[in-house]
Amino acid sequence: MSEQHDLDRLNELVALLNQYAHEYYTLDQPSVTDSEYDALYQELVHLEATYPEAISPESPTQRVGDTTDSAFEKVTHTTPMLSLSNGFNKEDIERFTQNVEKELGHDVDYVCELKIDGLSVSITYEDGKYVRAATRGTGEIGENITKNVKTIDSVPKQLDEPLDIEVRGEIFMPKASFARLNAVREEAGQPPFANPRNAAAGSIRQLNPKVTAQRQLDVFLYSGVFGDDIPIHSQADLFRKFPEYHFKVNPLFEVCHNSDEIWNYIERMSEQRHDLDYEIDGIVIKVSDFTNQQALGRTVKAPKWAIAYKFPAEEVETTIHDIEWTV
Ligand code: NAD
Repeated sequence: MSEQHDLDRLNELVALLNQYAHEYYTLDQPSVTDSEYDALYQELVHLEATYPEAISPESPTQRVGDTTDSAFEKVTHTTPMLSLSNGFNKEDIERFTQNVEKELGHDVDYVCELKIDGLSVSITYEDGKYVRAATRGTGEIGENITKNVKTIDSVPKQLDEPLDIEVRGEIFMPKASFARLNAVREEAGQPPFANPRNAAAGSIRQLNPKVTAQRQLDVFLYSGVFGDDIPIHSQADLFRKFPEYHFKVNPLFEVCHNSDEIWNYIERMSEQRHDLDYEIDGIVIKVSDFTNQQALGRTVKAPKWAIAYKFPAEEVETTIHDIEWTV
């Protein structure tokens, strides 16, 4: 193939993936499956590695999410909400742990956790009171969804202690709520949602919080922005300490010490995922210690101390091309 052909394809992929990102993040109406999106994204990554001078700031490899041009009020994040680098096989996990350990010069503990298939949220408490919730948006600027998130039962509205803390996690729709919602919609002659992720995103990004309240959403929290007054120094500490503050965490995390242990966790969770009452689309592996995380830093869109292993596409994947959408 000629260089011009490659560059044309590269530009075509940037435009196509940006269109898909807009449909997915802003309209909550994806027109392709995640694995189709991921395959095109990887094609773009390879082309950009060959032609680094052709990388534009508009490329989805250089940005998080989509522009926030919705009707929601905007919120500027105090600390950016990033994406995650992806891995698809054992070699990718081994490369990740090797790079981490080479960069730091020593072994580290990793925390493996489930990658919840929902949408990220940031929730701020001031003096122990729930004050604000926002979507990830562009990573720098999110949408104000304070009233909608307030309707989720598992989100505390008042903490026991007067803490200033921002907690981050994933809002999701349990499989049972998703099935009930679609049954009701079909009975009412409305088109069904394609999957729980889109149902959750469509339900939270509602201008009327009363609709959100009926949708039986839930949350798992997995990170935070806080000061030295809060005794959490690692991801493992965070999972132990958050429940004491009534912040809901997913209990299926594990501390691992090397890529073999991580792969063993991935294999076990790949088996168990169908028995869970919520959808997961992979496993997130994080360097546990916050000092080590800081030393590793970030790329333009993702921390270097974490990687998301994505499950391979299932054989019977919901086809979303033919489903109509209303939210
Ligand atoms: P990502 O989904 O690969 O990973 C980052 C996100 O994972 C975080 O922002 C967070 O919301 C989530 N997450 C879930 N559990 C987590 C945990 N335990 N710890 C940390 N984060 C956790 O990246 P992305 O930038 O959000 O989205 C890219 C992905 O979205 C694509 O790979 C694709 O699957 C999907 N997508 C699909 C379309 C489409 O048209 N179908 C379009 C755009 C994006």
